[in-house]
Amino acid sequence: MAVSSTRRCKMKVPAVAIVDGLKLRLAVFFVNDSLNRWALVIAAVLVVPPWVWLALRTGTALNILLGRAVPLTARTIWFVKAAAIVVGAGNVFGIALDLGVHWSLALAGAAAIVLVALSERVKGVIPPAPLQTQSSYEASWEELRHIRSAAWRSLILFVLLFFSAPLVAGLVWYLIPRTIRWILLAAYVVVLISTLARTYYFQWKYVRWTCPRCGCLFRGVWRPWMPRQCAYCALPRWTEKTDLASEHPN
Ligand SMILES: [Zn+2]
Repeated sequence: MAVSSTRRCKMKVPAVAIVDGLKLRLAVFFVNDSLNRWALVIAAVLVVPPWVWLALRTGTALNILLGRAVPLTARTIWFVKAAAIVVGAGNVFGIALDLGVHWSLALAGAAAIVLVALSERVKGVIPPAPLQTQSSYEASWEELRHIRSAAWRSLILFVLLFFSAPLVAGLVWYLIPRTIRWILLAAYVVVLISTLARTYYFQWKYVRWTCPRCGCLFRGVWRPWMPRQCAYCALPRWTEKTDLASEHPN
């Protein structure tokens, strides 16, 4: 009791109250005062490091996240950096206070993040253009066809397994020996999870697929579907290099 009343008295020091009012909690807005310290620690571990990394090394982080396949101006990178600084440094400050760190130390930590983040030399990104040959175009479209059909096949297989297996099991469950039942169930779960993982893998490859002409993400960054033309250079899908050569005979 003595300890908690001392802490309560400390909380009423005006300086702490002012700093408390300045706390930024943008990324962990879902963490409110009713959640315990563990929730804060988990939020700190899961949410804060990616944002701090994005704030400190914005150019590198964006290149890794976007696979060097999206053109970025220096201004865009600075815009992302500013947002990441607010979220990253703000949360380091807020969570440190919530974990009982003295406000001056919490402020110093947040300030260090801001300083290091601002010291990065930011340069715009231009994705490297791929080799412009007929065979590279053909290989590229062939890869797109393969990824697309593999993604569909995986998804259909997953849906079939998901809905049909319980029906089949319902019919034969009590006709097969108990031990074999559980082995079959375990095998079913493993196959179902691996099919779902395979679907995600090919979907991921599909959205990350790059244009054979400009080397950028064909779909762009925000569009959820694959467009008929490249989002950056407007190359129509399935265009062969020879078609382009006949358009521009020079
Ligand atoms: Zn393109």
